[in-house]
Amino acid sequence: MMVKKKQPKIYCCYCSEKLTYHMEEGVKRLYCSDCRMYHYENPLPAYAVVAFDESGERVLLIKRGVEPGAGMWALPGGFMEVDEGLAAGAARELQEETGLEAQSFQLIELHSHMSDIYGQVIILGYLAEGVSGEPKAAGDARDAKWYPLDEMPLLAFESHRALIEKAREV
Ligand SMILES: [Zn+2]
Repeated sequence: MMVKKKQPKIYCCYCSEKLTYHMEEGVKRLYCSDCRMYHYENPLPAYAVVAFDESGERVLLIKRGVEPGAGMWALPGGFMEVDEGLAAGAARELQEETGLEAQSFQLIELHSHMSDIYGQVIILGYLAEGVSGEPKAAGDARDAKWYPLDEMPLLAFESHRALIEKAREV
């Protein structure tokens, strides 16, 4: 699969004028000389959801269907939508990729990750509690299963392994 990198914005989204770089308080930023406005580029928030089964010995993983890390195992997750609440997005991603629901969600940790494709991503690490049943992969996931913690495969992202460790202490 061809991986495309996120490109900087070239044109103003308000007036379609070509953007240039200007220094604002020592930071190089995109600027529209027509609107006299800076165009800020910000990190993207994304979810990673940790769920353990009733025994606490198995963690829910999905096999990624899309880059980055296509074909590798990872926590269920994905980007936050513009119009959803924090925990609602974690519930949506869990449901979309595994078909499972949780009784509650708890924000446990934040990570920042520099992605080749998306630039800086802020990962919202959620612990999903009260998740049971057999997962059924859908959405961006090619497979989904409960993995024994002592037999976990190599994960697509180091931050996901750290989140699983953190979730075990909660
Ligand atoms: Zn403009």
